[in-house]
Amino acid sequence: MKKQERADRIGTILDELFPAPEVPLRHGNVFELLVATVLSAQCTDARVNQVTPLLFDRYPDVKALARAEVAEVRDIIRPCGLSGAKSMALVGLSSLLVRHHGGRVPASFEALEALPGVGHKTASVVMAQGFGVPAFPVDTHIHRLAHRWKLSSGAGVIATERDLKKLFAEETWNRRHLQFIYFGRTYCPARGHVVENCPICSWV
Ligand code: SF4
Repeated sequence: MKKQERADRIGTILDELFPAPEVPLRHGNVFELLVATVLSAQCTDARVNQVTPLLFDRYPDVKALARAEVAEVRDIIRPCGLSGAKSMALVGLSSLLVRHHGGRVPASFEALEALPGVGHKTASVVMAQGFGVPAFPVDTHIHRLAHRWKLSSGAGVIATERDLKKLFAEETWNRRHLQFIYFGRTYCPARGHVVENCPICSWV
């Protein structure tokens, strides 16, 4: 089977399994989405969702977080891990948003990636899920699935993102990346499973 045929079939299966995948990080606006996405680095979405209500209660908007004591933020977000770097990033990016962007989150990859703690993947999540701009955020889980399904042999996430963007129609990117994530969570247990029962891995 050619790579494009495989991608088309995978797309059809993912649409059947996860027709309307929800954004996993809870948020009330784009700023909260940005904060939650920064917190989600090397942390589960479930853990982030436990921490953010407390954080947004204490710092309800960008100005409040820009004025926050880094040590206080660190204490609240400690369960997410990397709390030292993440707390500095959150206070730093909030202060930059207030100073350079009128307190709003910019709808631009370049401007987002210039913020502390925001790399290409985080910017892609915010562009896709916050602004509805087509993007294909690739993390290590998506990277691994793309390799397993022979859709990419890219050495890193950037090459995999490029390959996946070529194989899937642009209007599907925003739900595809979520569908990959939900597939991994549903079908890829840590150990002990029957590959033959997997709706995709059984035939790729
Ligand atoms: S379903 Fe199983 S074989 Fe397929 S990617 Fe997940 S862990 Fe690997």
